[in-house]
Amino acid sequence: MTEKRGKAGVSEVETLENVCKEVQADGRISDVHRDKLSSMFGQRLEKALEALEESRVKKYVFQPSGRIVWIVVGKGREYLVMPAVEYCTCYDFYFQFHQGHLCYHIIAQKLAEATGQFDLIEDDDQLFDILIKEWKATEVRVAKKHESVADESIT
Ligand SMILES: [Zn+2]
Repeated sequence: MTEKRGKAGVSEVETLENVCKEVQADGRISDVHRDKLSSMFGQRLEKALEALEESRVKKYVFQPSGRIVWIVVGKGREYLVMPAVEYCTCYDFYFQFHQGHLCYHIIAQKLAEATGQFDLIEDDDQLFDILIKEWKATEVRVAKKHESVADESIT
Protein backbone atom coordinates (compact mmCIF):
# COMPACT_ATOMS: atom_id res chain seq x y z
CA MET A 1 0.00 0.00 0.00
CA THR A 2 1.53 3.28 -1.08
CA GLU A 3 -1.56 5.41 -0.71
CA LYS A 4 -0.93 8.58 1.23
CA ARG A 5 -2.66 9.18 4.49
CA GLY A 6 -4.64 12.35 4.99
CA LYS A 7 -3.55 15.18 7.22
CA ALA A 8 -3.58 14.28 10.88
CA GLY A 9 -7.01 14.58 12.39
CA VAL A 10 -8.90 14.53 9.11
CA SER A 11 -10.52 11.18 8.58
CA GLU A 12 -11.31 9.58 5.25
CA VAL A 13 -15.04 9.80 5.93
CA GLU A 14 -14.80 13.52 6.72
CA THR A 15 -12.74 14.29 3.63
CA LEU A 16 -15.08 12.33 1.39
CA GLU A 17 -18.19 13.92 2.83
CA ASN A 18 -16.78 17.45 2.61
CA VAL A 19 -15.71 17.04 -1.00
CA CYS A 20 -19.04 15.41 -1.89
CA LYS A 21 -20.88 18.45 -0.54
CA GLU A 22 -18.82 20.67 -2.85
CA VAL A 23 -19.35 18.30 -5.76
CA GLN A 24 -23.09 18.40 -5.16
CA ALA A 25 -23.08 22.21 -5.08
CA ASP A 26 -21.05 22.40 -8.31
CA GLY A 27 -22.94 19.59 -10.00
CA ARG A 28 -19.74 17.91 -11.17
CA ILE A 29 -16.37 16.62 -10.08
CA SER A 30 -13.86 19.38 -10.86
CA ASP A 31 -10.07 19.04 -11.00
CA VAL A 32 -9.87 20.61 -7.53
CA HIS A 33 -12.19 17.96 -6.09
CA ARG A 34 -10.28 15.27 -7.92
CA ASP A 35 -6.94 16.45 -6.51
CA LYS A 36 -8.27 16.59 -2.96
CA LEU A 37 -9.71 13.10 -3.21
CA SER A 38 -6.75 11.71 -5.09
CA SER A 39 -4.23 12.78 -2.45
CA MET A 40 -6.17 10.85 0.16
CA PHE A 41 -7.57 7.88 -1.74
CA GLY A 42 -5.09 7.34 -4.59
CA GLN A 43 -5.99 4.24 -6.56
CA ARG A 44 -9.32 3.84 -4.77
CA LEU A 45 -10.45 7.12 -6.31
CA GLU A 46 -9.52 5.85 -9.78
CA LYS A 47 -11.54 2.68 -9.21
CA ALA A 48 -14.49 4.66 -7.87
CA LEU A 49 -14.50 7.02 -10.87
CA GLU A 50 -14.26 4.04 -13.20
CA ALA A 51 -17.34 2.52 -11.54
CA LEU A 52 -19.21 5.81 -12.08
CA GLU A 53 -18.19 6.07 -15.72
CA GLU A 54 -19.16 2.47 -16.40
CA SER A 55 -22.59 2.90 -14.74
CA ARG A 56 -21.81 0.30 -12.11
CA VAL A 57 -23.48 2.22 -9.28
CA LYS A 58 -27.17 1.34 -8.88
CA LYS A 59 -29.78 2.74 -6.59
CA TYR A 60 -32.66 0.37 -5.94
CA VAL A 61 -35.87 1.88 -4.66
CA PHE A 62 -38.44 -0.62 -3.49
CA GLN A 63 -42.11 0.29 -3.77
CA PRO A 64 -44.43 1.00 -2.13
CA SER A 65 -42.23 1.10 1.00
CA GLY A 66 -39.62 3.42 -0.54
CA ARG A 67 -36.76 1.38 0.93
CA ILE A 68 -33.41 2.23 -0.67
CA VAL A 69 -30.49 -0.09 -1.35
CA TRP A 70 -27.28 0.91 -3.14
CA ILE A 71 -25.31 -1.62 -5.16
CA VAL A 72 -21.87 -1.26 -6.70
CA VAL A 73 -21.15 -3.86 -9.34
CA GLY A 74 -17.58 -5.11 -9.03
CA LYS A 75 -15.71 -7.83 -10.86
CA GLY A 76 -18.06 -10.81 -10.83
CA ARG A 77 -19.89 -9.68 -7.74
CA GLU A 78 -22.29 -7.05 -6.50
CA TYR A 79 -21.59 -5.15 -3.32
CA LEU A 80 -24.28 -3.85 -1.05
CA VAL A 81 -23.45 -0.35 0.25
CA MET A 82 -25.35 1.32 3.07
CA PRO A 83 -24.30 4.97 2.94
CA ALA A 84 -26.06 6.05 6.12
CA VAL A 85 -23.80 3.87 8.23
CA GLU A 86 -20.77 3.63 5.88
CA TYR A 87 -21.16 -0.08 5.33
CA CYS A 88 -20.19 -2.36 2.45
CA THR A 89 -20.12 -6.12 1.93
CA CYS A 90 -16.63 -6.31 0.36
CA TYR A 91 -13.33 -7.68 1.71
CA ASP A 92 -11.67 -4.32 1.83
CA PHE A 93 -14.36 -3.00 4.13
CA TYR A 94 -14.38 -6.15 6.23
CA PHE A 95 -10.64 -6.08 6.87
CA GLN A 96 -9.86 -2.40 7.09
CA PHE A 97 -12.84 -0.28 8.01
CA HIS A 98 -12.01 -0.44 11.71
CA GLN A 99 -8.90 1.59 10.81
CA GLY A 100 -11.07 4.24 9.20
CA HIS A 101 -10.30 2.94 5.73
CA LEU A 102 -13.07 3.37 3.15
CA CYS A 103 -13.39 0.90 0.29
CA TYR A 104 -13.80 2.21 -3.24
CA HIS A 105 -17.45 1.08 -3.35
CA ILE A 106 -18.37 3.53 -0.61
CA ILE A 107 -16.38 6.27 -2.36
CA ALA A 108 -18.17 5.42 -5.63
CA GLN A 109 -21.59 5.45 -3.97
CA LYS A 110 -21.01 8.87 -2.34
CA LEU A 111 -19.71 10.40 -5.56
CA ALA A 112 -22.58 8.88 -7.53
CA GLU A 113 -25.11 10.35 -5.14
CA ALA A 114 -23.39 13.76 -5.22
CA THR A 115 -23.28 13.89 -9.04
CA GLY A 116 -26.52 12.03 -9.75
CA GLN A 117 -24.48 9.61 -11.86
CA PHE A 118 -26.15 6.30 -11.04
CA ASP A 119 -28.76 3.91 -12.42
CA LEU A 120 -32.10 4.18 -10.70
CA ILE A 121 -33.97 0.90 -10.48
CA GLU A 122 -37.46 0.68 -9.08
CA ASP A 123 -38.57 -2.70 -7.86
CA ASP A 124 -41.49 -4.15 -6.07
CA ASP A 125 -41.22 -4.73 -2.32
CA GLN A 126 -41.87 -8.40 -2.97
CA LEU A 127 -38.42 -8.60 -4.55
CA PHE A 128 -36.69 -6.90 -1.63
CA ASP A 129 -36.41 -10.01 0.52
CA ILE A 130 -35.12 -12.12 -2.34
CA LEU A 131 -32.51 -9.60 -3.40
CA ILE A 132 -31.37 -8.82 0.13
CA LYS A 133 -30.93 -12.54 0.75
CA GLU A 134 -28.69 -12.76 -2.31
CA TRP A 135 -26.62 -9.75 -1.33
CA LYS A 136 -26.31 -10.91 2.27
CA ALA A 137 -25.32 -14.40 1.12
CA THR A 138 -22.31 -12.76 -0.49
CA GLU A 139 -21.45 -11.22 2.82
CA VAL A 140 -21.52 -14.60 4.57
CA ARG A 141 -19.25 -16.11 1.93
CA VAL A 142 -16.83 -13.24 2.41
CA ALA A 143 -16.78 -13.76 6.17
CA LYS A 144 -16.21 -17.52 5.83
CA LYS A 145 -13.45 -17.07 3.34
CA HIS A 146 -11.75 -14.70 5.73
CA GLU A 147 -11.40 -17.48 8.29
CA SER A 148 -9.51 -19.78 5.94
CA VAL A 149 -7.55 -17.34 3.77
CA ALA A 150 -6.66 -14.54 6.10
CA ASP A 151 -4.09 -12.65 4.02
CA GLU A 152 -5.51 -12.98 0.56
CA SER A 153 -4.95 -9.80 -1.43
CA ILE A 154 -7.84 -7.40 -1.44
CA THR A 155 -9.45 -6.33 -4.68
ZN1 LIG B 1 -16.73 -2.14 -0.52
